[in-house]
This record gives sequence, structure tokens and C-alpha cells, in this order.
Amino acid sequence: MRYIQKLETPDFFITDTNGLVLWDEYSDTFEMRTKKRTLKEYILKEEQQYLCIYCESKITLSPENSHIEHIKPKDVGRYPQLTFDYFNLVVSCEGKCHNEEDDNRKYNCGHNKDNNYDENLFLNPTLVEDISDYFEYETFLENSISKIKIKESSKDLSKAEYMLNILNLNDENTIITKSRYLTLLKFENDVIAENLTDEQIQIWLKEENLPFISLLRYKYPNIINL
Ligand SMILES: [Zn+2]
Repeated sequence: MRYIQKLETPDFFITDTNGLVLWDEYSDTFEMRTKKRTLKEYILKEEQQYLCIYCESKITLSPENSHIEHIKPKDVGRYPQLTFDYFNLVVSCEGKCHNEEDDNRKYNCGHNKDNNYDENLFLNPTLVEDISDYFEYETFLENSISKIKIKESSKDLSKAEYMLNILNLNDENTIITKSRYLTLLKFENDVIAENLTDEQIQIWLKEENLPFISLLRYKYPNIINL
């Protein structure tokens, strides 16, 4: 996971959601759905580089592929007052982008987290600037997978463990760990083995819009400075 700097609340969002109370009202009509999509696109493009806030998979605007996620759950009894608080809104994958074909279960990220949110344990990627320091990565060559691990030197092991569990980021029923490994392999083949210059690497990274950027940063801290 990486720190995401939220921008100021955009004016269009204030105008578009003026008077709305329930989140469902934001998709009541075609016009409203278009407005909601504009917000999703803005967050993905301007803040998240089209990567899921939690697992860092590459995501698109399609509702099949991503949704606007309330970091603090909006449901009654939780944080309904933050339903339209821009700083509580990020974009998550649908939790099935790493499934085997025909498997539509939602395994990870926002859908797995659902209404769970322990204020004392949750590492909010938009607030915890050193969130990357809680995690490290281990590659298992024999299985061609890469897993997120809790860094032993983490300031708080229980928070890191809570996050891995609540977001289910190492699920072996899915191919998320394999996707991580393949991304690393691609980076090593296309960039490291080719001895690209810093400038070429920056261009390459922009074009590739690479997923799992925290894994690459962890492995190659001098090269990945996006
Ligand atoms: Zn995700």
C-alpha cells in the first residue's frame, strides 16, 4: 500500500452532490450516474494513477471493475455523516480482478472490508504518510508468487496485520500473488535488464501505468520514485 495525497474537494463534486443525503441518490438517474462517474474518473486520474487504493491493481472506470469506496463506512451506525465527504472517498477494485475465469466472488479490498473499520487499527492510505513502511514483499520463485509481508520493524504489527486480513491481500484462491510476481518480472525484463536511463524509466513507467507500484518501489527504491 502507498500513501495517497488527497487533493482539495473539487468544485464540481460540491455542486453535483448539493442536497443529496443518501449515497444511492448519487446514482438515481442517468444524469446522476454520469456525475458520479466523473468523480471516479477524477480520483483515479488525479490521485491514484488508475490503481486500486488498497491492492494497487490496475483498474478502469467500469462498474464491473471498480467502485467509489468509503474508507469510513457510510452505513447507519458507522459514519453516515461522511457519505459525501470528499476526503473519505477513494476508488477500490471490485475484489475479483485476480480471480480465475468465471469466478465472480469478491475476494479482497473494499468489498471484503465492507462495514469493518476499526479506528484504532485501520491504516488509512490517505492519512498515514509512511504506510509503505509497514509492509515488505517476499518472492517465492518456486511458485512464481509474491506476497505482502508485515515488516518486522513496523511501528505497529497489529495494524499491519489488521490491514492484510481485512483487505485479504494474499489470498491464495486468487491469482493476486501471481500477478504481483509477473509485474515484478516484467519490470525486471523491460527496465532492469535493458539498463534504461532514469529518463527512459520515467517515460516507461508513465506509459505502462504499472500496478503494484509499492512492490517495485520496495525492490528498487532508487529507481521507482513516482
Ligand atoms: Zn484492490
